[in-house]
Amino acid sequence: MKANPISPTIPLDQDGVHHGFLRLPYSRDDSAWGSIMIPLTVIQHGKGPTALLTGANHGDEYEGPIALHELAVTTRAEDVSGRLIVVPAFNYPAFLSGSRTSPIDKGNLNRSFPGRPDGTVTEKIADYFQRTLLPMADIAVDFHSGGKTLDFVPFAAAHILDDKKTQKECFAAMKAFNAPYSVQLLEIDNLGMYDTAVENLGRVLVTTELGGGGTSTAQTNAIAKKGLRNVLIHAGILQGEMQLDPTINVTMPDEDCFLFSDGEGLHEAVIDLGDRVEKGELIARVWPLDRTGVPPREYYARREGLLISRHFPGLIKSGDCVAVVGVS
Ligand SMILES: [Zn+2]
Repeated sequence: MKANPISPTIPLDQDGVHHGFLRLPYSRDDSAWGSIMIPLTVIQHGKGPTALLTGANHGDEYEGPIALHELAVTTRAEDVSGRLIVVPAFNYPAFLSGSRTSPIDKGNLNRSFPGRPDGTVTEKIADYFQRTLLPMADIAVDFHSGGKTLDFVPFAAAHILDDKKTQKECFAAMKAFNAPYSVQLLEIDNLGMYDTAVENLGRVLVTTELGGGGTSTAQTNAIAKKGLRNVLIHAGILQGEMQLDPTINVTMPDEDCFLFSDGEGLHEAVIDLGDRVEKGELIARVWPLDRTGVPPREYYARREGLLISRHFPGLIKSGDCVAVVGVS
């Protein structure tokens, strides 16, 4: 396999605090010999595990980048036993444009793994993590939120895996993150996900959905910062006491958790995030855009549980995810 064109501007394996970039050559109209400079901090001290910490895998999700910038600027080398590799904006071009996918190649980084060293910009980023950074890591935390089109109750998540040892370690790390909700997550589209790449290497993964709507709040930022610190203490990299508060455990047994729109319209939420629903209960109505006098289409819960995710913008299109009901 070809070498990846990305090179770090700082050492990845020397003691101390190093701030720099992952430099990805990108020749283009406005910069013939230009590069994409992805911000990177590496903090290493003594022996111990390595944590690979990423935000903005999707460019419009903000709690992760905020928590990781704060970690990079406040952590001293002597606070660490092992190594932190901190990348606040994993899909940096998407982050700069405030969009889920990259404006350069429309690449959804979380559907681009294992990537290609000679592929698009997004595929090159994926390949560098797949073959260079992930093999260095014992644990990975990848922050997500709903972005501009979804909103979530704030949760940390882990997946059911064939590898039961890794699954157990992932669930323990999710519990350590200690978000208000802890979700055993069912993916409807896991092909090419970073999560799967991490888990297939037998590394521990914690992922999150901490809010959404293309912004963050004081509450969701506090959850991200607390969870990050807790996981790093759990991993043995930071010292101190974990802050543990009550969490609501949620499972997603099958695809009946998901409701999808079958037409466009004006979205009316009938229940709110975190509310309990019975099977068959009305969750949302969708009104026509182009005329009065027509009743709305109605969307009903396919199982009883808690509303853990909902469509965010006021207008909805055919195929959009209307809502997700988890079982608690
Ligand atoms: Zn995301």
